Amino acid sequence: AAKKTGGNKVTIYSEKLSQSSIERPRLEAHLRKAIENEKIEVFYQPKINLKSGTIFGAEALVRWTDAEFGFVPPDVFIPIAEDTGLIQPLWELVMKLACSQVSKWNAARPQPLSISVNFSARQFQEPVLMLQKVKEILAESQLLPKNLEIEITESILLSNSSEIVQALESLKDIGIAVSIDDFGTGYSSLSYLKDLPINTLKIDKSFIQNINENHENAEIPEAIINLARSLHLDVIAEGVEEEYQKDFLLSKNCVQMQGYLFSKPLSKEEFEKLFI
Ligand code: C2E
Ligand code: MG
Ligand code: MG
Ligand code: MG
Repeated sequence: AAKKTGGNKVTIYSEKLSQSSIERPRLEAHLRKAIENEKIEVFYQPKINLKSGTIFGAEALVRWTDAEFGFVPPDVFIPIAEDTGLIQPLWELVMKLACSQVSKWNAARPQPLSISVNFSARQFQEPVLMLQKVKEILAESQLLPKNLEIEITESILLSNSSEIVQALESLKDIGIAVSIDDFGTGYSSLSYLKDLPINTLKIDKSFIQNINENHENAEIPEAIINLARSLHLDVIAEGVEEEYQKDFLLSKNCVQMQGYLFSKPLSKEEFEKLFI
């Protein structure tokens, strides 16, 4: 299906790119160059608190437009980066760009923003290196640790390794928040969840998009909201596109939201114009 944000050309390329084993090495080579030359951008999608009526943070979402391939969606190039090891320099670049940008914005705002960065499983394969890099980037950007959140998927936790729990504990000790992205799609062991050093459950957008005008098909988001409450965790809904989805979430006292209803991911210039 054609993406809302792109034309046909983009879609045809994406499908071709993700399937073709011939295009993949070329795409990888282009991506490697783009990372080396810092030809990668970060977009920022606001996170809203409907109760206080404020934007309290933003999610950093990586963007890459190649001269030959055009706009390549992260769903296409992140898996390639993960398979090839490029995810390490890409992660460092995104962290660097996002932390320094938000640190600058925070200097100009009465209420600081928190920036959420997506971490891949690869980052947790060398947790000591990861922690060292995180500390380094925080120091350089002068972003306060409490204004950094990391988003990890449930699959990272599935391995149930003590090393990963330890890495999360260390992040928490520094003051960094941890959010479980796409929550509900990854079969977390619920008993395990209880003992993890995490702060937030982020309800996957597929569940939010199933909620209709009559607030039907809302059993799963409602269950996740209740689960978060029982475990004393924050909860945020992603992919909120419709007024009635927002209304449902508010009726269940889930007040943190992110989605096209409020704003698409924005370039740093657009974000600055609107919110800083
Ligand atoms: P994610 O972390 O779950 O990010 C949310 C995705 O949903 C983003 O897609 C965002 O643009 C999109 N989105 C936000 N609001 C709405 C909405 O109301 N409706 C719909 N249909 N979509 C919405 P995007 O930017 O294409 O990123 C896709 C995925 O790529 C991300 O999913 C994340 O898993 C990965 N990704 C993006 N940037 C990074 C990054 O810097 N590092 C890593 N490791 N992964 C990244
Ligand atoms: Mg995310
Ligand atoms: Mg998500
Ligand atoms: Mg995702």
